[in-house]
Amino acid sequence: MTYKSIIPLVLLIALSSCKSQLVEKKVTPKPKNVILLIGDGTGLSQVSSAFFFKETSPNYARFKTIGLIKTSSSREDITDSAAGATAFAAGIKTYNGAVGVADDSTAVKNLVEIVSTQNIKTGVISTSSIQHATPASFYAHAINRGLYEDIAADMVTSEIDFFAGGGSKFFNKRKDGRNLLVDLQNKGFKIDTTALGSFEDIKQQSKMGYLLASNHLNPTAKGRGDYLSKATELGIQFLNKEPDNSFFMMVEGSQVDWGGHANDADYLISELIDFDDAIGKALDFAERDGNTLVIVTADHETGGFTLASTPKKTESGETYSSYKEITGTFSTKGHSATLVPVFAYGPGSEAFSGVYENTEIFHKILKVTNWIDKN
Ligand SMILES: [Zn+2]
Repeated sequence: MTYKSIIPLVLLIALSSCKSQLVEKKVTPKPKNVILLIGDGTGLSQVSSAFFFKETSPNYARFKTIGLIKTSSSREDITDSAAGATAFAAGIKTYNGAVGVADDSTAVKNLVEIVSTQNIKTGVISTSSIQHATPASFYAHAINRGLYEDIAADMVTSEIDFFAGGGSKFFNKRKDGRNLLVDLQNKGFKIDTTALGSFEDIKQQSKMGYLLASNHLNPTAKGRGDYLSKATELGIQFLNKEPDNSFFMMVEGSQVDWGGHANDADYLISELIDFDDAIGKALDFAERDGNTLVIVTADHETGGFTLASTPKKTESGETYSSYKEITGTFSTKGHSATLVPVFAYGPGSEAFSGVYENTEIFHKILKVTNWIDKN
């Protein structure tokens, strides 16, 4: 090749790489809405159980972008749900038991506080009481997760637009005698303590709260039914009723964790399948909408759960492991330190692949949406 023929070639390459950079910048899409689904205590074996025990194809199988997070809290290798959720909600590592406060016990701004000043609607949904550690970390600040009545009071002052869960007693059967359900109504909430309604029933409301148990909701197999899927659908409809507005919604499958603590594989798997159904509702909406980022992860793993081969005996009495039959086994009654998976779908989802700290979930959400704290 002559010197003269190289110059146009170099120019051409330079120009074409310039062009592709421009195009790339143009098409990098920003999600308008974010739905964060947290399966409490949901490690890889818990997720895997849906692939063996759910009768239909798991919604987890619909994701293309997968990552892993490190879940340790600020002081311990193994996190609890309070420090785990505070990492997602506020982007900081804190001590176990801390709800929305840093390691030095000072309050830290959470996602709901950051985005609600930007006219972004917010919601939280759980199958536990709404004051339990995971949902609480998105609207409350408490030095100890057990301060349920203080956490309930923080709901009144928060900017949350939609909530569904249990825990009515922390609003209306309090030691201080106050009835915070009245305070919530004065703030514009309609509160329903009987059942989830239809969207038609609630679409005129500015804020909506469902408190469907005195404390926690029942397990799905013991009367809760498809509450979590319905609440997820209803929350999406409610927060998206003015389609020009963005929304952020957190949905927790709270009781996968409790099946793990109880070392009860049936409880765990039924809760995981129920959570997977709710994931399906979020993904169905995101597919239709095209502007919604769905992130599914867990605060930590619980129980050291394994889909183990089953110990059997041959006719002659020798023991062996049968690979034909899975037995859900556990190694602890508590949490474990194992990395937990992150699944992401929609615009901005690519940012969630890789191996990173749990606090990055918060930072990545703000970065891909450009919902960065403007105050
Ligand atoms: Zn737990």
